[in-house]
Amino acid sequence: MSQVFYRSPKTSYPVAVRGDGVYLYDEKGKAYLDASGGAAVSCLGHQHPYVIDAIKSQLDQLSFAHTAFFTNAPQEALAERLSARFPEKNSRVYFLSGGSEANETAIKLARQFWVAGGKPDKYLIISREQSYHGNTLGALSLSGNPQRRKVYQPMLFDWPRIEPCYAYRHQFSTETEQDYGERAANYLQQEIDRVGAENVAAFIAEPVVGATLGVVPAAKGYFERIREICNKNNILLILDEVMCGAGRTGHYFAFEADNIVPDIVTLAKGLGGGYQPIGAVICRDHIHNQIVDGSGSFAHGHTYIGHATACAAGLAVMDVIEAEHLLQKVKTSGEVIRTDLAAAFGEHPFIGDIRGRGLFIGIELVQDKADKTPHANGGKVATSIKQRAMSEGLICYPGSGGADGINGCHILLAPPFIYTSSHIDELVTKLKRVLHVTHF
Ligand code: PMP
Repeated sequence: MSQVFYRSPKTSYPVAVRGDGVYLYDEKGKAYLDASGGAAVSCLGHQHPYVIDAIKSQLDQLSFAHTAFFTNAPQEALAERLSARFPEKNSRVYFLSGGSEANETAIKLARQFWVAGGKPDKYLIISREQSYHGNTLGALSLSGNPQRRKVYQPMLFDWPRIEPCYAYRHQFSTETEQDYGERAANYLQQEIDRVGAENVAAFIAEPVVGATLGVVPAAKGYFERIREICNKNNILLILDEVMCGAGRTGHYFAFEADNIVPDIVTLAKGLGGGYQPIGAVICRDHIHNQIVDGSGSFAHGHTYIGHATACAAGLAVMDVIEAEHLLQKVKTSGEVIRTDLAAAFGEHPFIGDIRGRGLFIGIELVQDKADKTPHANGGKVATSIKQRAMSEGLICYPGSGGADGINGCHILLAPPFIYTSSHIDELVTKLKRVLHVTHF
């Protein structure tokens, strides 16, 4: 039994001892096909030689220099590369150690922007139900995930939340996708009217909802309307791309498919591809400038911001994505996987929806396909699927969003960008074995 202070002491996990491409191996030599990159992390698979070499040579030269005293070359270079990818010129980049830190930083950036701009009443951050933005108390306050909030509820900020954009469950049969997208976005305006625009600093959402709903892209028109509402009410738009960003959807930033530009975007997971812990916040130039002009500097910081070795890993991951034209591959492989999944499971009595963008794919399981009845105990179903998959030698990421009986439960797939057609076949074959049961 594991002695690591992690999850339930009743759970015993195999010991991972080696990675190689799209496989992980345990201490008994069993191979596991990685079909979720852990939780959408390992975008280049495991032990990519270019990334490993880049980290080793960075360690040989300079592993860390505190950013209170120095900047460093990998930090500067990675910031340049991310800024060049952001649709607006001169965006600014701030590096953290992960997704929760990145979202905490985004919240503070939004708050300080308004304080520096002479609007100190603006402090509320509006988010969405059934969302997840991280486990630190600020990021958890944003998260509308009942299960994760439960224990800490009295310690969380009481910030407003609106309904998520979730066409499979919330679109009326009488409305078009576009109509639904606009209706769902208008809930933001209603909430702003309720709490007062003068009190609201920002709205935060995932462009494609990952872990809580099981890969749900927004309906057409949703984010365009959200952008309009934010502009009209003087509210910043923060997009959490911790899971869906860094190329996962086939665009470097997921928001590129929604025809909008956020004020602040957060990245983590795929940014370092699991080779090093790293997250980032990217903001528009004017946000940075207002803070610097109004307050001198951003009142925030962590010991490991701009960590040289973590940034070297992020830079190497970006190099590989660009050199191997992986964004295009993500789009085409994603289409192949979704088509193959539809052929394999389209008629499956418990599979309600197969969806996603690029190599970010969700399969929603339901108790009754006709009326979309969600599982009363989705958490249990998810655990059972995870165990079956592990015994079949498949790593996928099932979940229920901690909202049993509200959503169904789902399987999230986020394969490494380097998947070949034989990996896709292996994934579908193994999933068939996992899901070949009459009930869960
Ligand atoms: N935001 C989203 C959308 C996430 O999926 C996650 C992690 N699953 C986080 C934030 C938190 O990131 P981390 O676990 O790196 O703190």
